[in-house]
Amino acid sequence: NSNGTNKHPQFGPKLLNGDQKSDSFARRQKIEQQRRSLPIASVEKRLVEEVRKNDILIIVGETGSGKTTQLPQYLFNGGFCRDGGTIGITQPRRVAAVTVAKRVAEECGVELGQKVGYSIRFEDMTSASTRIKYMTDGLLLREALLDPYLSRYSVIVVDEAHERTVQTDVLLGLLKDVQKKRSQKTLSESNNNGTLVKEENNGEGEGSSVSVVKPQLVRKLNPLKLIIMSASLDARGFSEYFGGAKAVHVQGRQFPVDILYTTQPETDCLDAALVTIFQIHLEEGPGDILVFLSGQEEIESIEGLVRENLKKLPEANQKVLILPLFSSLPSEKQMKVFAAAPVGFRKVILATNIAETSVTIPGIKYVIDPGLVKVRSYSPDSGIESLIVVKTSKAQALQRSGRAGREGAGKCFRLYPESRFEGLDDSTIPEIKRCNLSNVILQLSALGVDDILGFDFMEKPDRMAVIRSLELLYLLGALTDEKKLSDPIGHQMARLPLEPNDSKALILASQFDCLEEMLIVVAMLSVESIFYAPRDKLEESRTVIKSFSSPEGDHITLLNVYRASLEFLEKNKMENSKEKAEKNLRKWCKDNFINSRSLKHARDIYIQIRENVERMGLKISSCGDDMVPLRRCLAAAYFLNAALKQPDGTYRVLANGQIAEIHPTSVLRRAKSECIIFYNLVQTTRNYVRNVTRIDYLWLAELAPQCYALKD
Ligand code: ADP
Ligand code: MG
Repeated sequence: NSNGTNKHPQFGPKLLNGDQKSDSFARRQKIEQQRRSLPIASVEKRLVEEVRKNDILIIVGETGSGKTTQLPQYLFNGGFCRDGGTIGITQPRRVAAVTVAKRVAEECGVELGQKVGYSIRFEDMTSASTRIKYMTDGLLLREALLDPYLSRYSVIVVDEAHERTVQTDVLLGLLKDVQKKRSQKTLSESNNNGTLVKEENNGEGEGSSVSVVKPQLVRKLNPLKLIIMSASLDARGFSEYFGGAKAVHVQGRQFPVDILYTTQPETDCLDAALVTIFQIHLEEGPGDILVFLSGQEEIESIEGLVRENLKKLPEANQKVLILPLFSSLPSEKQMKVFAAAPVGFRKVILATNIAETSVTIPGIKYVIDPGLVKVRSYSPDSGIESLIVVKTSKAQALQRSGRAGREGAGKCFRLYPESRFEGLDDSTIPEIKRCNLSNVILQLSALGVDDILGFDFMEKPDRMAVIRSLELLYLLGALTDEKKLSDPIGHQMARLPLEPNDSKALILASQFDCLEEMLIVVAMLSVESIFYAPRDKLEESRTVIKSFSSPEGDHITLLNVYRASLEFLEKNKMENSKEKAEKNLRKWCKDNFINSRSLKHARDIYIQIRENVERMGLKISSCGDDMVPLRRCLAAAYFLNAALKQPDGTYRVLANGQIAEIHPTSVLRRAKSECIIFYNLVQTTRNYVRNVTRIDYLWLAELAPQCYALKD
């Protein structure tokens, strides 16, 4: 009741005292003032008018101008939800959906999950009363499976379209079609006065995802409004794709940013970033620092190094707040980057690409840009997708430096020589050109689109990549000879919010009587770096980690970690409160060099996918301590990732002849098993396979005869 709108005043200790009241009043006033001073605020009326006039509108505006947080509120106030519909805003990234929804809920003075909410894979923070709903683009695609007209939405805003993630590209094509279909439907309905019975979620907030048809909300379906938002100033591509749709530009505000380059190429980017952080901290004036890093592992290792080095400084110089920002970080932690630092403190934000355009963090004056980004990469020749770190494009470098000039003049330190900048690609290649398409094909097939090459993509994927991805789905048994979803496997796989291989592993596991274990394995594989080994404690961590390790490989080692943590937690819960038990678990993780953030995330994923498979009616049973069924099941599902040992100790991937080594973090790195299956292939200077399990090569011919046969 801090917003003073509660109709039933409460008395007693819960009542806010005068100070708190004026505090929250002051905060609301400050937020109002911030909102009014955003560049987009001056064009509110015009934007609402344009949306009214145009069924498709493209809005282009510099990062930080207020598109994501403000436009949905303008549309809400402009009456676009009056018909009972919702405004859906899609984001390529989970973090953005969550943090922006929280901010907007605060701006509106409502509790998150009520009028304003978010929904991302494995986490639903919406209710029947949600009217402004932030979500990932992938999630909206899943909703389209259950609700082909997207009938709950009156407006859909595809945000960050310039990112051109594969999900965004698929969504754009789909929305074009949905809009057309819905116009036809509304036309025919207005002729016979029909109404549409809406399919409703049970709306119990987090975790609710059972779709039941409740004919409670009867709403006449209006045409769908579509808005495409982008931070790249070139709207032409989007406009052409949408048949010459109108584009409006929101003027941004940008202060000058001084760009500095290194004189020499840096060999160790982490080290260079570390040195630069301290150079800025000790030599430059006040202002927060934003460092762009490629992933959770890099962020956590720099986080440790900064902390260590800070301790060596005189106390007066230690006033630094180190704040990581990456996707799997718990959302309370994500929100910390937005709070102002205490007086005299400097914030150092260690972020992935998320801070490039998806979220705007106030207070940044210095940007450190190593010039790298982690992307998906797929080679149709090998049929293997991997994550690789590549140079950013010029457009990305400019976006990153722009983050330093939002509130005043700033500085950007590019950790590479100026000559390299000139050689960068102008813009990033859309993800659809460089990823495995099997998931997209599966989703589109489930939506009734069988001819993927004929689908109206903004940019067509490569023919070879399509063919290889179709082949994979066929080998997994998801598609029939006619390229239709198979029954039941294909349909089951399309329903699971996982990569096709992982879905197949779960479906098979119910037949191998090890679904309980496979759920844990898949959940643990879905998070980055379960183990955490600080550089200075490498040996100690290895010894401790050994206590979990299984001679069979990393999958079972991960299973052991999960089971051990659960056992610890259950025991602790008997003697302690839930909070205390969770706290003890974090301590246990630390002692065992386990990343408690990742483990927590894996636990949440486990709960969600377990619900998913239960709903599908798969039999959940356990193989107990016998790991053979689990390993056989891994071989049966990930057969394309099988590799045989070579005389020189390296491994040859059977499906494509690629040579790789076992990653140094694997428990099998010295074991040199004859035949292995791996979960991922990482390409750095060498090829490494990660998350590896020992299998019997005879299993391949037995369990994946569609792919392997024994000679003689
Ligand atoms: P755009 O989408 O155009 O890049 P946003 O709507 O994301 O812009 O951001 C508008 C403003 O809101 C920025 O000044 C940003 O600093 C502020 N903002 C966004 N999220 C938060 C948050 N969680 N806490 C505080 N300020 C925020
Ligand atoms: Mg935005």
